[in-house]
Amino acid sequence: MLKIFNTLSNKKEVFKSIQTKHVNIYVCGVTVYALCHIGHGRTFIIFDMIIRYLKFLGYTIQYVRNITDIDDKIIQQLVIHKKDLKSFTNDMIKAMHIDFSILNLIKPTNEPLTTVYIPFIIQFIKKLLKNKCAYIATNGDVLFSVKSLSSYGKLSNQKINFLKLGNRNLKLEKKDPLDFIVWKLKSNNFLKISSEMTNELFWSSPWGIGRPGWHIECSAISQFYFGHKLDIHGGGNDLLFPHHENERSQSICINNKENVKYWVHAGLLVIDNEKMSKSLNNCLTLKTVLQLYDSEIVRYYFLSTHYRKPLHFYHDSLKQSEWSLRKIYFALKDMNCNVFLSYKSLSFELSFKKAMNDDFNTPKAISILFILVKKIKFLKLKDINKANELAARLRQLGNILGLLFHEPNTYLCKKNQCNTILSINKIKLLIQIRNNARKLKNWKKADALRNKLFKLRIVLRDSKNVTLWEYY
Ligand SMILES: [Zn+2]
Repeated sequence: MLKIFNTLSNKKEVFKSIQTKHVNIYVCGVTVYALCHIGHGRTFIIFDMIIRYLKFLGYTIQYVRNITDIDDKIIQQLVIHKKDLKSFTNDMIKAMHIDFSILNLIKPTNEPLTTVYIPFIIQFIKKLLKNKCAYIATNGDVLFSVKSLSSYGKLSNQKINFLKLGNRNLKLEKKDPLDFIVWKLKSNNFLKISSEMTNELFWSSPWGIGRPGWHIECSAISQFYFGHKLDIHGGGNDLLFPHHENERSQSICINNKENVKYWVHAGLLVIDNEKMSKSLNNCLTLKTVLQLYDSEIVRYYFLSTHYRKPLHFYHDSLKQSEWSLRKIYFALKDMNCNVFLSYKSLSFELSFKKAMNDDFNTPKAISILFILVKKIKFLKLKDINKANELAARLRQLGNILGLLFHEPNTYLCKKNQCNTILSINKIKLLIQIRNNARKLKNWKKADALRNKLFKLRIVLRDSKNVTLWEYY
């Protein structure tokens, strides 16, 4: 029975989809004002893993991930680069799609652009005004009234009075300091925008020419696709407040009830103890990281930590992931994975499911893969049929996490590392030569062979009668 941590209730809950065997999932996508950073990589790999696992459990999925293609930060970039909106955002979206396809992310069922949904957003704002959840401020902007929802602050688990104390950004036009913009008038936009740019950046509305606020787009777009039948709403933890808190408020105002059953948040990626964000100089683009590491290593690295935990980004950890993945591929090397999976190895699938059913515990699930690696290594020379079955099981479970799709030889030969990969027979032969040298007390030769193997990340352990080896 799958359990998911729901941010709204602040506890793990048994997952029960609204419709039988079907899951609707909405994940806040990218604001395309710059290249994607490695933090995006973590968030979207996490939701990719969740979707793959739900599919494995037999659910059909409708997955919507929006693209924010109009926003102050985008306008700022247009002014700096003297570009028009469409060509700038198209370039950014193209680059994002390249990064995501290298990461082997499942494509969303729908990938709506904010600018395409402006008429629907306007309709949504009209309903907010009609339901008295929004008002027209003295400066003409349309603002959402936080007071209209008694449970404001529930999702991010904050008391509204406490929030007010922290919010010093009190503007005269706001009835309450926490009220936020749903429609911003062009005349209140302080960026220096040339007259030829204004046509594509603003839209007519009953409240004057302007553009939507950020939070309204996700409420309106998720309403468009799912109404109040949204099973999972996801995003990075940095979106919890104010974005998701505000989104929830707007959606409740329209539906008169919660429209999301499970709010799921991915932990942040931390670099040198600072939150990853583009405003900090420590930003690493996905493109840069994917030039340094194979995308499967990046995926493995992210899934080695539980999705809700913050993750400190270190290059050394990625190198460690590279070796862990090589160990798995090495176990699959020369094995026949196209065998029928029988009940004999079912216990591994059950252990894997037990781990994943516990709020997608991927580190535990990966540890099951390593139990299989160990057993395959042991059985390879003793019972090839059993070893093949376990190899097939290893590949099946790895695939559920979006791993192990490569042919082992192709993977192990990547980056010109072919010459560093020894077959098991070759390793055994070198150990035998070394042991013969030891018998003859030729320590120099024996040590040279041990060092040679060590450089190939193979460590030897001598016991009384036998020399054992393993990758480190
Ligand atoms: Zn959103």
